[in-house]
Amino acid sequence: MKALVFSTHGFDRPFLEAAASEHELHFTHEPLTEETAHLAKGFPAVLLFTSDAASAPVLRQLHDVGVRYLSLRSAGYDHVDLAEARALGMRVANVPAYSPQAVAEHAVMLLLALSRRLVRSVQLMRSNDFRLDELVGWEIRGKTVGVVGTGSIGSAFARMMAGFGSRLLATDPVKNLQLEQEAGIIYTDFDSLCAESDVISIHCPLTSSTRYLFAAPVFSRCKRGLVLINTARGAIVRTTDLLDALDDGRLGAAGLDVYEHERGLFFCDYSGRPINDPLFERLRSHPKVLLTGHQAFLTREALEAIARQSVDNLTQWEQQGWCNREIS
Ligand code: NAD
Repeated sequence: MKALVFSTHGFDRPFLEAAASEHELHFTHEPLTEETAHLAKGFPAVLLFTSDAASAPVLRQLHDVGVRYLSLRSAGYDHVDLAEARALGMRVANVPAYSPQAVAEHAVMLLLALSRRLVRSVQLMRSNDFRLDELVGWEIRGKTVGVVGTGSIGSAFARMMAGFGSRLLATDPVKNLQLEQEAGIIYTDFDSLCAESDVISIHCPLTSSTRYLFAAPVFSRCKRGLVLINTARGAIVRTTDLLDALDDGRLGAAGLDVYEHERGLFFCDYSGRPINDPLFERLRSHPKVLLTGHQAFLTREALEAIARQSVDNLTQWEQQGWCNREIS
């Protein structure tokens, strides 16, 4: 099948080329927008990244130029208007579990870096200051860790935290009974999880009901000194409220891989260019925040699996007209 890959990056093109022998992939570094949708003219399929905004008007443009298949190079699909895709008869498939470990390990890394003051330690090391006064850490063993969403990534994270000897709480509308038995995780309601947890790690999707799930009213009910980890989607946390809660000490620290206004910013080179986003500036310079630029998925293993599965979606559509990873 002939397909256009939007938002191509240096890190994923070699993996896609290696996986695509049966298909004719064309690449553009342009993200999918209302201005760039016309580039897909003549392609029955497009491969999209999380930075591509497949809104209703964009989908209508893609449909008009002949696109019928959308293969997402991501597990999350909050950037696609699925209702509009369905109405237009376009088929959408994602890569649901390319490497939950990659994201879970990144969440653990953020937590460990915060608990042992790693960034400050590296700064002091590089400035010849070997005093330890600012570097007193805390142990994860024995702390209560709350997991919001125990799907592929949340359950991988919970299993890792069980190895640290943490007490594990979880909230999810769908209980994972195996995880309960194997990792000793205890399911509870969202409010109890917030009140009891020393650490909360977010692993639910961004939906209309999880948008700003973590905002001022919840922060006021959380255990004082809470460490919040978010590797899911930025808009699950209201950034202004998070910063206020960090400033007044209700929150101890935040480890983030995602930011609510990251589209058009993350994955791009802004060196030498101004970033006109005071909220982002406040977030990345906050001493209690450790922020990475949506890189939790970025391992060789995950990139191989993303390429293989997103190309396999094309193969299935071409050979049988449907695909077992369809989400619309
Ligand atoms: P998944 O579908 O396997 O699991 C999500 C879980 O969240 C499900 O069990 C679901 O029942 C639960 N859930 C839904 N609403 C909830 C709520 N209100 N409260 C608690 N739980 C709720 O998805 P996954 O593969 O584990 O991925 C989770 C999210 O991680 C994705 O939606 C995506 O946004 C994000 N993600 C981020 C990166 C990254 O690089 N930072 C990479 C992959 C995925």
